[in-house]
Amino acid sequence: MPRFRLVLEELPAYRPGKAVVGSDGRSFKLSSNESPYDPLPSVVEAVAVAAREMHRYPDPACVGLTEALAGRYGVPVEHVALGAGSVTVAQQLLETVGEPGAEVIYAWRSFEAYPLLADLAGVTSVRVPLVDEAHDLEAMAAAVTSRTRLIFVCSPNNPTGTVSRADELTAFLDRVPEDVLVVLDEAYHEYVRDADVPDGVRVYADRPNVAVLRTFSKAYGLAGLRVGYLIGHEPVAAAVRKTMVPFAVNALAQAAAVASLAAEDQLLERVEAVVKERARVRDGLLGQGWAVPPTEANFVWLRLGERTMAFAERCAADGVAVRPFAGEGARVSIGSPEANDVLLAAAEAFGAG
Ligand code: PMP
Repeated sequence: MPRFRLVLEELPAYRPGKAVVGSDGRSFKLSSNESPYDPLPSVVEAVAVAAREMHRYPDPACVGLTEALAGRYGVPVEHVALGAGSVTVAQQLLETVGEPGAEVIYAWRSFEAYPLLADLAGVTSVRVPLVDEAHDLEAMAAAVTSRTRLIFVCSPNNPTGTVSRADELTAFLDRVPEDVLVVLDEAYHEYVRDADVPDGVRVYADRPNVAVLRTFSKAYGLAGLRVGYLIGHEPVAAAVRKTMVPFAVNALAQAAAVASLAAEDQLLERVEAVVKERARVRDGLLGQGWAVPPTEANFVWLRLGERTMAFAERCAADGVAVRPFAGEGARVSIGSPEANDVLLAAAEAFGAG
């Protein structure tokens, strides 16, 4: 019997969202915050072209995509690092700081992968409870110790959709020691409409210990291809690049991401439509008597407590997959207008309680 690391025995499981089929055969997957749109033809075409070279290894340095991102954001290419999805970049970040005794601070509940990746990297998790479903940045700053190496600030927060605003973020960053890396996880940034929410790419510019994490999985609709990136100062981006598994970002993913940046206007129109649907869904739920925290992401959060799993089952019966967190609540992605209608009807039938 091979011997594995002890940490594997207690590793928290990552539970991916699964599709369900309703009694009438319909299926709406609102459990993984994906784009409800089919891929753009221009992106599919770029992938098809790249596929003709799939017997070759991809460009390990992702030069074309790195340059496209640097151009898109007006940052030096040295400030960009890529990974196979931003979850992998988060893992690489933990690898860069993972020494015995190192601590990572994050809000809880937040992105489910943080505790998993921290355990894997041998970094101790310090969880700071949300207050009113939002990050308590004061408490997070107070939790910093001499062992803290990394802090994740997830804004909008998965799964609650809440954001960290400019003034609180500035006060927080001013308190964090310069040898602690603060990662602004902005996986849902493109959906933000609140003008008080800072753009991490502006925030990092004059703070050497701040970096931004973004992804092509959500607004750009490339979840299945796995491309995420970090924008940070040269030493941070270089450290992340060193921890990348060679050739981690495959050739089709690189081509699709470059094509998506070229088609950004079209993709951002789709984001705008999702933002409109988000308002319709939240207003509908509020009208039914649900307490739905304001959300700046492509999902809503319903705090259901003990009713959570029953709610998920009720939705599944209508073919709607939501993401339940037993005993806490359910996260529901904004889908197509049809999917959202079915969700609203299921929520009404279940009752706000
Ligand atoms: N950060 C947050 C906050 C997320 O919700 C997700 C996806 N669920 C990710 C990062 C990772 O996304 P990906 O690996 O697809 O880029």
